[in-house]
Amino acid sequence: MADLEHFKQKLMALKDDLTQRVSAIDKDIKHEGMSSNWTEQATERENDEVLESLGNASEQELVMIDNALKRIDSGEYFSCSACGEDIPSARLELLPFSAHCVNCADKI
Ligand SMILES: [Zn+2]
Repeated sequence: MADLEHFKQKLMALKDDLTQRVSAIDKDIKHEGMSSNWTEQATERENDEVLESLGNASEQELVMIDNALKRIDSGEYFSCSACGEDIPSARLELLPFSAHCVNCADKI
């Protein structure tokens, strides 16, 4: 059995990282001083869209990390949530928040 605690630490570190990234993005979106120049405002709006999609991706990842942490607590971390087969720890090493074995991830 691979070391649960090791993956838990990994997930917590990832979560910290992402939480910081998300709050940095939020801060960027709510620019403190809006530009008075219209062209600059348009550019800022485009940037906001990019930032927002970045933020959404990070938030989705955070949800996956939270789910993985729950799976650790419930002892299901090493089982594929689709077929119940073991997820190889080499895969979890690369994708610690993955809830599926390679076969099932391919089908999704
Ligand atoms: Zn599977």
